[in-house]
Amino acid sequence: MATFYIPTRIIIGKNCIRENTFLFPALGTKALIVTGKRSAKANGSEHDVRRALQERSIPSVIFDDVESNPPTTVARAAAELAREEKADFVIGIGGGSPLDAAKVAAVLATNRIGDETLFSNDFAQKPLPVVAVPTTAGTGSEVTQYAMMTNDRIQSKSFVISDDIMPRIAFLDAAYTESLPLPVTRNTALDALSHAVESYLSKRATEMSSFIALESMKRLGRHLPMMRHGADLDFNVREQLLSASLLGGIAIAQTGTTVLHAMGYSLTYFKRIEHGRANGLLMGDYLQYLLPEHQEKVMTVLRTLGLNGIADLKALIDDLVGDKEMISEQEISAFSAIAMRARNIPFTLKSPSQADIEEMLRRSFLS
Ligand code: NAP
Ligand code: FE
Repeated sequence: MATFYIPTRIIIGKNCIRENTFLFPALGTKALIVTGKRSAKANGSEHDVRRALQERSIPSVIFDDVESNPPTTVARAAAELAREEKADFVIGIGGGSPLDAAKVAAVLATNRIGDETLFSNDFAQKPLPVVAVPTTAGTGSEVTQYAMMTNDRIQSKSFVISDDIMPRIAFLDAAYTESLPLPVTRNTALDALSHAVESYLSKRATEMSSFIALESMKRLGRHLPMMRHGADLDFNVREQLLSASLLGGIAIAQTGTTVLHAMGYSLTYFKRIEHGRANGLLMGDYLQYLLPEHQEKVMTVLRTLGLNGIADLKALIDDLVGDKEMISEQEISAFSAIAMRARNIPFTLKSPSQADIEEMLRRSFLS
């Protein structure tokens, strides 16, 4: 048995918001815009959304205080604003952090619940409808049922999972991504890559999800090498990266992620390593771990990326990530214990023990 589900209307292309304002009135009568502090103002996305709403006489209120890896307190503040202002739909603009904060704000605007209830996805009222405008090319959050929040209680990430937070509409205009600095472009591309690779190597992979994951890898394989320098990242490349990220999102919406993401959360929480970079740093050794039992699948990943082996992948990623952060043996055992409790561990093609996770971290950082 296999299912495939994506309820999001995906609209791709330059000026796609401006040219599709007719879609907004069906979403509600007042919008809450959720975004980060700066970039949406600089890259034109916030302006385009506001203009589209004005054109349709829809008032809006803005919450522009989302930082990277937000905790639920940020989503709570946004939800409070939605309630005060009687907003009846939410538009997230930005990278994965604002998009995820928008999704959680949509849940909390209609449900007065604590974090524990939130993370057990036990909410009685339907969330407000969500629209997503990604401005990074990495998370694929514009098409997923996931919203990742930093959770101090477990010193990691927790996620809300609900089909009701899958955006109704995703507007993908690569023009907004042209302002991405090279390090953010690299990190977010590595996140997209890890989604495609982990989805393909998930126990839950289906023919459809695999087909999509491989297409994402093809696009990334062509364009990742350009990111060594960054000079060739023209609009066409930006479009390819954004669509690769979208495809990665569609793939993980079917399968979820695996131990690679689970290991990455601690690197982000304790070492402040960006999410995509964390996954990138560990990817070679994750593939090495799966190789003996799943050689054919791992080799398909590498060949689809245009590489001959794991050593080539490591060399490429090393060029992209530069100097690695230092982590100690003590940190390795603490991070492995936390990773073992993550919800995505069981979907790994080969179930890892804590010792396996320690070994992957050790190889990635200490050798
Ligand atoms: P991000 O944390 O959203 O943004 C990183 C930085 O990029 C911010 O400083 C942001 O600035 C800046 N930025 C965003 N767009 C820009 C643009 N067009 N030009 C210049 N700068 C720009 O990074 P992200 O990697 O996209 O998202 C990471 C989050 O997504 C993590 O919390 C991760 O766990 C989550 N995630 C979610 C899913 C999912 O399915 N829901 C999947 C994977 C990861 P401003 O703050 O000024 O905007
Ligand atoms: Fe991710």
